[in-house]
Amino acid sequence: MAANSLNREQKILSYLKEHGNASIQQLVEAFGVSNMTIHRDLNKLAEAGHIQKKHGGATLPGAANRLAEEACAMCGKPSSQRTVFIVKLENAEEVRACCAHCGLMLQSRSEKVWQSLTTDYLYGHMISAGQAYYLVGSEVSVCCVPSILSFGSTADAEKFRKGFGGQVLSMNDAAHYLHGMMHMHSGM
Ligand SMILES: [Zn+2]
Ligand SMILES: [Zn+2]
Repeated sequence: MAANSLNREQKILSYLKEHGNASIQQLVEAFGVSNMTIHRDLNKLAEAGHIQKKHGGATLPGAANRLAEEACAMCGKPSSQRTVFIVKLENAEEVRACCAHCGLMLQSRSEKVWQSLTTDYLYGHMISAGQAYYLVGSEVSVCCVPSILSFGSTADAEKFRKGFGGQVLSMNDAAHYLHGMMHMHSGM
């Protein structure tokens, strides 16, 4: 019995490594055990720091899962996983912003930016900020104003533009737009 559950904990870990995350239901189906059993396994794994439990499931404690707790380097708001923007510097440091608005500002202020990542607003995964499409000036306000949403595909960005207005811009144009807006607001 003990051997079995150890075995299963290992398997749950490899399942998570493969899939990134899993719901309780998926694990119940994958391992053919009860809900309670999976809960117990997850508790043990979480206590040992191997996984993180989240509502109705589990994920590996990777970078993506720590984001929610970290404050935005620009405005200090907690960075929501839904909109987080990461600026990676050449010295391997990472700075986080709550959303593309702060992210683009942060990026333009930082020296030696190696790579930036933003969150695809539709799918919630990280994409290269330089290749993303930014919807600015729309009616959607997610975090900081003026709100900027990022998308991995121009078609998705256009879909939102049709529904909520604004314009779709490249990263550089969105950064310029933002600087223009911010100067207007501060009267400089
Ligand atoms: Zn911010
Ligand atoms: Zn923000």
